[in-house]
Amino acid sequence: MTRTDPVVGVLALQGDVREHLLALAGLGVTARPVRRASELNALDGIVIPGGESTTICRLLDVFELRAPLAARLADGLPAFGSCAGMIVLAREILDGRADQLPLRAIDIVVRRNAFGRQIDSFETDLDLEGVAGGPIRAVFIRAPWVERVGPAVQVLARVGEHPVAVRQESVLATSFHPEVAGDDRLHALFLSVIASS
Ligand code: GLN
Repeated sequence: MTRTDPVVGVLALQGDVREHLLALAGLGVTARPVRRASELNALDGIVIPGGESTTICRLLDVFELRAPLAARLADGLPAFGSCAGMIVLAREILDGRADQLPLRAIDIVVRRNAFGRQIDSFETDLDLEGVAGGPIRAVFIRAPWVERVGPAVQVLARVGEHPVAVRQESVLATSFHPEVAGDDRLHALFLSVIASS
């Protein structure tokens, strides 16, 4: 059954939660911050925001959200991670903290702070596969890149040879922050992923 009023959660442990909530609300869906396991039940999708992935990974354990969230993701809950959120959703993290465990919801290996040695933060215009209307303004802030993708992963955009936007079925992840650029097309793409899942 297709629902017209999806409820989308934003993991609200740390990071730019408010920006994602505003982008989603602007598209007319119910958007809710999520801090407790019980709040996962009603969701049709979840956003993992940008911020600091080591902190978010640690707080997943402190708030006892890791197991219930991993279970919902394994069950097919659509997810969208931006920047730190991409790292949190990955299968494997390179240059993470030794004790930093990802959720393994998408078959990618990410390198944390990958652009860091060259340039800390930058903006660029990116064409994204499946996103019409011209290039997206992409803001990269101490961003990861994707170093390896599994066979089921579709690369939507690259910077140089490195994937920076990827999708595997109902999981979407970007190295950059669509939530800070005032362009809601990535959030709209996520809503279409939710609608078709
Ligand atoms: N470098 C951060 C991390 O490792 C991500 C930065 C961001 O989300 N802007 O989590």
